[in-house]
Amino acid sequence: MTEKIIPLADLRYLNKIPVIPARLEAPTGLLADTLARPLQDLRISITDRCNFRCVYCMPKEVFDKDYAFLPQTSLLSFEEITRIASLFVAHGVEKIRLTGGEPLLRKNVEKLIEMLSALRTPDGRELDLTLTTNGSLLARKAQALKDAGLKRVTVSLDALDDTVFKQMNDVDFSVSDVLEGIEAAHRVGLGPIKINMVVKGGMNDQEIVPMARHFKDTPYILRFIEYMDVGASNGWKMDEVIPSSEVVRRIHAEMPLEAIAANYVGETAGRWRYVDKNGDGGGEIGVISSVTQAFCSDCSRARLSTEGKLYTCLFATGGHDLRALMRSDKTDEEISTVIAHIWRARGDRYSELRTANTDGLNADRKVEMSYIGG
Ligand code: SAM
Ligand code: SF4
Ligand code: SF4
Repeated sequence: MTEKIIPLADLRYLNKIPVIPARLEAPTGLLADTLARPLQDLRISITDRCNFRCVYCMPKEVFDKDYAFLPQTSLLSFEEITRIASLFVAHGVEKIRLTGGEPLLRKNVEKLIEMLSALRTPDGRELDLTLTTNGSLLARKAQALKDAGLKRVTVSLDALDDTVFKQMNDVDFSVSDVLEGIEAAHRVGLGPIKINMVVKGGMNDQEIVPMARHFKDTPYILRFIEYMDVGASNGWKMDEVIPSSEVVRRIHAEMPLEAIAANYVGETAGRWRYVDKNGDGGGEIGVISSVTQAFCSDCSRARLSTEGKLYTCLFATGGHDLRALMRSDKTDEEISTVIAHIWRARGDRYSELRTANTDGLNADRKVEMSYIGG
């Protein structure tokens, strides 16, 4: 029998309304936090709802029919999202990722993408605009997303075996439908496409090598993600984490790999490529070692929750309510100054600290990934 896990507090309602600083400032396109990390990357959760119930993210026992998802009026409107995003872009953000929940469930998401794709960096460049999806609606929406200006997608897929995948998504969704979504996205040019597989020991780790084999010699980059202690619902235990080093070891034993250099500072995935006998490869894989090898020192990511709270770390216990500022008629200059102050004061490095405390920190006090966005 599965135990019902009841979070101790609903952190979505913890409110911290930022105070407007006395001296307003114009954005310079460059902001650094207390650890000299620039603000470059913004993840926006556009819905807290999902049609999957992945056991490591929205377990059914918690996210059941009685769960209180946010009401429509709480969500940031497309105009509010675009306004906040433009302020972040003026501060140096070049990459925006839409996430959730399942972002493709948000009604008229193409309209939002169209609005965001019109934004430009201070020196006139287009943004790297992407989204992470479970793939369930991708076959249907790929063309419209591309036409709206989306550059690429990341698709989550945790197994190739249907029984295992259905155990993980817990809503009886088939692998073939996700694969169809991935192919549709590829056909319309939403690439390079990354495939994310969360590895949970004892659940889908036997799928590591079959997944690697399936995506070898394809245009898709498969990335293995260590199961993380996000939120307070998934009952995370360190012994269910399969370290990335073990993932690489298992694949390497069957299909030799060699390490390759990162594309840029702050890239979350360690990169490996296949070394075929004739030397012409077979593509690459990535490993995201969020638990065993923290990458906080290069973390340039801010997160905006579904209802407009700014989080400076995936594991933060509180957010800064930017929606309250927008809905109380604060000016762009005022909100932009608030963002600058929040980022400059940032000192988060949760994963580095967890390394010294393997039971997870703040175990009952973290916000859920579906709310803050992965
Ligand atoms: N619903 C979309 C999806 O699944 O791709 C987007 C949101 S989901 C929260 C974003 C990413 O977070 C997914 O790739 C998912 O696998 C990952 N994720 C969720 N819970 C996780 C956990 N406990 N540990 C590691 N990754 C997790
Ligand atoms: Fe939904 Fe994505 Fe979370 Fe799975 S990982 S429950 S698809 S939000
Ligand atoms: Fe960034 Fe926080 Fe993750 Fe560290 S723990 S990499 S600071 S989001």
